[in-house]
Amino acid sequence: MSVALSVVAIPPTMRAWVLNDPGDLELVEKPMPEPGSAEVLIRIDAVAVCATDLEVIKDGPPARINGGLPFNQGFTPGHEYMGTIVGLGPDVDEYRLGERVSVEIHAGCGRCKRCREGMYTACLNYGANYEGNDKGHRANGFTTDGGFAQYAVNHINTLVRVPESMTDAEAALVVTAGTTMYGLTELGGLVAGESVVVLGPGPIGLLGVAIAKSLGAACVILSGTRADRLKIGSELGADHTIDATRTDPVEAVLSLTGGLGADYVLDCAGTEQSVNQAIKMTNRGGKICLAAFPHEMVSIDLAHAVRNNIYLYGIRGEGRSATHRAMALMSAGRFDATLIHTHTFGLSDLPEALRHARERIDGAIKVIVRPQDN
Ligand SMILES: [Zn+2]
Ligand SMILES: [Zn+2]
Repeated sequence: MSVALSVVAIPPTMRAWVLNDPGDLELVEKPMPEPGSAEVLIRIDAVAVCATDLEVIKDGPPARINGGLPFNQGFTPGHEYMGTIVGLGPDVDEYRLGERVSVEIHAGCGRCKRCREGMYTACLNYGANYEGNDKGHRANGFTTDGGFAQYAVNHINTLVRVPESMTDAEAALVVTAGTTMYGLTELGGLVAGESVVVLGPGPIGLLGVAIAKSLGAACVILSGTRADRLKIGSELGADHTIDATRTDPVEAVLSLTGGLGADYVLDCAGTEQSVNQAIKMTNRGGKICLAAFPHEMVSIDLAHAVRNNIYLYGIRGEGRSATHRAMALMSAGRFDATLIHTHTFGLSDLPEALRHARERIDGAIKVIVRPQDN
């Protein structure tokens, strides 16, 4: 039995959304989760909606519960959240009650080869946390209960301290920033002075611009089709923006880089077109980070990539403590992540929040839900 210590009274139940059939979420009362060894109980103060939440709710994967699809198992999605520690598992002294924390998604299993290398987002025991196959894997909102609820239990390895001066909404964006940070560091580390192209001004792409610029990139180029998002990209540090509805992004990048192409290309669009554009606009020996996943098989100009010694890196999530590095830049005020926060809803309005994110209503980019508000 785990023991939760607390200075504030923890109610025996909480409000949480659970996923029934595909696309069917229900707000229910769930028993209050209890933190076990190396875990804390978090009162969730803000949770951001991510495109991957929309996929999980509609199709299931990459969520995996009890070895199968996440439907009708009382599973609570939501993975980009922050809150206040209100309960400590036995022997937890790394954190104190009342501390504000953001969370990384993946704790991993901690016992496989990849986890031991710090690549816990690529854990070899993904989803193995149920009776008969319990390796202790944790990825809240994917393989364990997540943040569309008033409270959640998190492993201490997933916590990132939030400075007092940072708002809840900004702190909830740290995972998004951490994902691009992981991408850039997995490419071997962004060397100051190099050129970076970001394809696709979604939340990850926009914060990719900000992170690349903060790490000293000489020239950051953002390509996309929505003028309002390109404008935010400029505010986050893009030196050049390309309106892909009017200009061919490959030609534009070649002309901005003296015909050579960019050192790094971050593909945050994940389409056949964007992957091929990335290959054609990367210079010889350059590197491409594939940060978005295509939904269909894609055909790429592999010969061009091979002939030009172009490296392709598949990136999953926010490994190797990238979230801590992203938080360091955000704490230092190196960029304003809240520029991508467009809408806020209370817990009972989650379906409306999801609709805004899915249909990009009213220019929605990052939609935030505050679970302590009705
Ligand atoms: Zn996400
Ligand atoms: Zn593992």
